[in-house]
Amino acid sequence: MLNIDMRKIYNFYPIEPAPDAANLPTGGDIYYECADCQVVVNSVPFIKAACACGNLTGGGGNLTVKNPERVRVVRGKLK
Ligand SMILES: [Zn+2]
Repeated sequence: MLNIDMRKIYNFYPIEPAPDAANLPTGGDIYYECADCQVVVNSVPFIKAACACGNLTGGGGNLTVKNPERVRVVRGKLK
């Protein structure tokens, strides 16, 4: 698994109000922070990506979220 700490490259800002877990937004600058392991993964990952606990797994432009209730949606801006 790729293990880059995205926080070293990006600043992340929570999206307010928090989006509905049943209808999470996606986009190139939208990232999901796993509430269980705190790993940040892009919502449209083009390279293989996953969080440490397996809640978020993706690649090829699609992200699979096992438990959307345990996700915090954030917007990423390059530092
Ligand atoms: Zn996780």
